[in-house]
Amino acid sequence: MKTATIIKKADGYYITLSLQDSSIPVLTPDAPEMGNTIGIDMGLKSFLVDDLGRQEEIPQYYRKSEKRLKRLQRSVSRKKKGSNRRKKAIKRVSKAHLKVSNQRKDFHYKIAKKLLQHGKHIAYEKLNIKGITRTKLAKSTHDAGWGQFLQILSIKAEKAGLLAIAVNPCGTSQDCSSCGQKVKKDLSTRWHSCSCGCELDRDHNAAINLKHRAVGHSVLNSLGNVLELSGSHQEASALSVLR
Ligand SMILES: [Zn+2]
Repeated sequence: MKTATIIKKADGYYITLSLQDSSIPVLTPDAPEMGNTIGIDMGLKSFLVDDLGRQEEIPQYYRKSEKRLKRLQRSVSRKKKGSNRRKKAIKRVSKAHLKVSNQRKDFHYKIAKKLLQHGKHIAYEKLNIKGITRTKLAKSTHDAGWGQFLQILSIKAEKAGLLAIAVNPCGTSQDCSSCGQKVKKDLSTRWHSCSCGCELDRDHNAAINLKHRAVGHSVLNSLGNVLELSGSHQEASALSVLR
């Protein structure tokens, strides 16, 4: 046993034991290529979209709990300070808070498992916490959750001998995944429509670009020049997180 952590939560005490299992062999992942890699983009409405256009929705029960939490938080502010009613309301809030975070974590584990069932590496957009772009700002409601999800995904991938590859997301929503041409769109433009004939959902197009970057796939641009997307765009994720 490596460590034991005791945490106090709204509904009691929790103990987390960290164990080291030396019987698990170290797996060497295959190099990422087109056939063994999936690209995922953080969706605006759905939780994520992959490079085949498959979406993972945020479950309704989770949305409901979130709404209930907000309602309870408002009810606290209406209660008199120091009153018993207020104390009770605060307790209800912390319980609801715990429920939301547990549901979110369960959901993240479920999605990570589902993604890795394909036995492929996962390329995802690297989060840029400091330089939040306009796009990210609109998605920020998901951001906290997305970070946790990626940590879970990285750990699960490593255990399965697969890679979770952090990719520079710069331009992935603007560039055409088919011809490499830049197709400017603001956040309200949900559809990617390129003069080369490529028609895709915006996030689907981005997911393909993320996959291409992770495997160093070259795309021909409109002038017939090969755009090199490998090298600096590719970066292995920090697999040591949470260890
Ligand atoms: Zn195109």
